[in-house]
Amino acid sequence: MMKSSRLSRCAAAIVFLFFAASGVRAQTLWELAKQNRQTLRIATLFSAQDVRDRLSSDKGIDEAIDWCQKTGVTHAFIESFRDGYTAQRPALEHARDRFREAGFEVSGCVTPTKVGKDSTGWQGIACYTDEPTQKHIQEIFEYAASMFDEIMIDDFWFTDCQCEACKKARGDKSWVDYRCDLMMRVSRERILQPARAVNKQVKIILKYPQWYEDFHNRGYEVVRETAEFDRIWVGTETRDPDNERWGKKAQFEAYFIMRWLGGIGGAKCGGGWFDPFGTHEDTYVEQARQTVLADAKEMLLFCYGALLRDTGPANVERLRTEVPGLFKLAAMVRNQPLKGIAAPKPPNSDAFDEQYVYDFVGMLGLPLIPAAEIRTDAKAAFLPVHALKDPQLADKLKAMLAANTPVLITDGLAKKLHASVAEDKSVLVLKVAGKPSSLLNLTREQLKPIRDKLLAPLGIRFDAPNKVALYLIGDHWIVVENFNNGAITATLEFAQPVQASKALILPITGAAEFTCQSGKIDFTKITPRTLVALTY
Ligand SMILES: [Zn+2]
Repeated sequence: MMKSSRLSRCAAAIVFLFFAASGVRAQTLWELAKQNRQTLRIATLFSAQDVRDRLSSDKGIDEAIDWCQKTGVTHAFIESFRDGYTAQRPALEHARDRFREAGFEVSGCVTPTKVGKDSTGWQGIACYTDEPTQKHIQEIFEYAASMFDEIMIDDFWFTDCQCEACKKARGDKSWVDYRCDLMMRVSRERILQPARAVNKQVKIILKYPQWYEDFHNRGYEVVRETAEFDRIWVGTETRDPDNERWGKKAQFEAYFIMRWLGGIGGAKCGGGWFDPFGTHEDTYVEQARQTVLADAKEMLLFCYGALLRDTGPANVERLRTEVPGLFKLAAMVRNQPLKGIAAPKPPNSDAFDEQYVYDFVGMLGLPLIPAAEIRTDAKAAFLPVHALKDPQLADKLKAMLAANTPVLITDGLAKKLHASVAEDKSVLVLKVAGKPSSLLNLTREQLKPIRDKLLAPLGIRFDAPNKVALYLIGDHWIVVENFNNGAITATLEFAQPVQASKALILPITGAAEFTCQSGKIDFTKITPRTLVALTY
């Protein structure tokens, strides 16, 4: 009797300690996230189906709040429409109020899929030439605006329809012009005006997809739409480069698009959004790191339901270990100017056969500065065929070459320019041959002359294998990220003597060993898939 009671008391104590320990840890990340929300806010989305399946009871809401707190999520987006399904008002309002009472910021979301008349193209996308479809999207936003003061539009706000009605309405316009004008008009008349009429506080966020090369082709127009909407967000889901279904993306893409749209949107740019599809723990957290490194003020983990299944739980477990480091990284980069090689992509520019070449060039240890405009005062520049969009390209290039600015141009662009350009002593031609991913096959030796020439005006030299990215942030931060599955060595040399010290390493189990003598930082080892930040 005595013995069993002592045993059960002992068991109870162990159970208590277990919960206390996990409780303390959860509270710590939650408290840390609340303290850091001005620097980096972490959000998740409850899709309309999540609202139905997981937030329609208090028990479900309790579990969701607990998961968020353990993950450092302080902002809940609660979605009212997706895939033709409208979540019910009582469930939406109850969940909204419960999250607010628990100390969360709460916003709404709409995913415009299966809205009405189907597009002839992408499945689930609508024909917005169609009047009843326009009316339906208006109702969807009036409904959301009656419950939420901020509404995100997930990245299906486009059209690729070529039906007879669209052909007729297009008239003599190109598809690009027709779709951009149509989506602008429908945005204004069917989303922004009606939503504001229902709720004059409401702010609408346009979230751009990650597929930036095709924005204009499907009616996403980053200059006019960004000006029109209250806020913008950015899709940064690069996933696993080796994944058959979802892959073929370079991890640097998340950084490139976040910086590019961050520059276009300025204060309007809210954050980056990524998902667990086709990822494993390493590539999942790489998305988070690239998003934060690109100065996102917030990161959204899409979405609660998806993160509870398949690779989600393991991904989230790893992410939780990196959250404190990500807060540090966000503080380092916030509003810091970049140093490096200008990499302008003019808005609405065509990629031809150099799709996403910026992302692959960023993997070569060339510290790119994503931008929307070609500027002649750059210290060094990278120009692919996209540059042809700028009507002043020839004059700008002439000015840069006259100033001895090193310019890396792709072979695709070289073919379109006067032959004398490629022969200029300041120009290097990068062989892409219509296959940007082939750049990842360049050897360390092949990369050396490219890096040496482009980094010379910055007073630095960098040597590392392929798939090691370099970021020069402000006057005192260097970030190197090794995307390889093996450990690497690297050197970074400055023209001036520097004293460098370690500021951050992710993952928490990663390591970076280096020596720093006068102006040379010699990394004797950076572990696989590791980000290291140094201050100097
Ligand atoms: Zn149509």
